[in-house]
Amino acid sequence: MSATTLPSGRLALMLTELRLPTIKRLADDLCAQSDREGWPGHRLLEALMEHEIAEREFRRIDRHRAESCLTPDKRLSSFDFAAVPSVSKAQVMALAEGHEWIDRGANVLLFGPPGVGKSHLVSGLGHALVDAGRRVLFTRCSDLVQRLQAARRDLRLPQELARLDRFDLLILDDLSYVRRDQAETSVLFELIAERYERKSLAITANTPFSQWSDVFVDPAMTLAAVDRLVHHSTILEMNVESYRRRAAHAAQPSGRRTNARPTTTTATDHAT
Ligand code: ADP
Ligand code: MG
Repeated sequence: MSATTLPSGRLALMLTELRLPTIKRLADDLCAQSDREGWPGHRLLEALMEHEIAEREFRRIDRHRAESCLTPDKRLSSFDFAAVPSVSKAQVMALAEGHEWIDRGANVLLFGPPGVGKSHLVSGLGHALVDAGRRVLFTRCSDLVQRLQAARRDLRLPQELARLDRFDLLILDDLSYVRRDQAETSVLFELIAERYERKSLAITANTPFSQWSDVFVDPAMTLAAVDRLVHHSTILEMNVESYRRRAAHAAQPSGRRTNARPTTTTATDHAT
């Protein structure tokens, strides 16, 4: 039977019914090729199935990328590791490629002043995980706190926390910008406690742990939160000068560099 005499209408209907859009799209061509080249039946079947599976995986990753809210161009491939000597490229690539830390719900914490590439680096890590079939959500920490507070008001905080459970990695960007009045409900602590040793968090902050008391209700809760976060974590200290500022300096005529010293912020600065 040649491609032109295939019962396309009926076959197309059946493939729609079975939700096999890729096979539907390729059936005529692959059947024709199979006839031309005299493939055994199982080879044709295999070829069709392989295409369907590959497309499904592709669409799944696409969906995960869309739901992740990651900025498309903040990838590890566009991150200039030479600009942040304190961060080991090998260590970051190991996190991107080996997911044992994700499986045991370990965390990544990134510290440094504004503009040093914390959001870019953590997004790059997020993209790498999405590429590998993981589910990631990138959110500003203060936005998530707001969302969780609304959920608590509506008595559906447990459901909202459970919804976040489908993400292998939750990226909380700019923890330090959670406002004092937002801290009062402790939802952020509940999120950290809920995910502890189960699901990973990646957190960026431009203030050291000692100043996190502005983000939680009281010192005891701050201590409890930090304790859980650091128990299984990789801490990346990014104490360099703002990348943007450096790029601006580089664009200036030589000899006009002003005092360009970084404002350093380490995880344990002024530790209590
Ligand atoms: P932070 O989150 O620490 O404030 P960002 O990640 O927002 O910093 O970085 C500020 C800008 O500089 C972004 O456009 C980012 O892509 C860029 N950038 C920062 N560091 C690097 C780097 N090492 N390589 C490439 N781009 C960088
Ligand atoms: Mg940032």
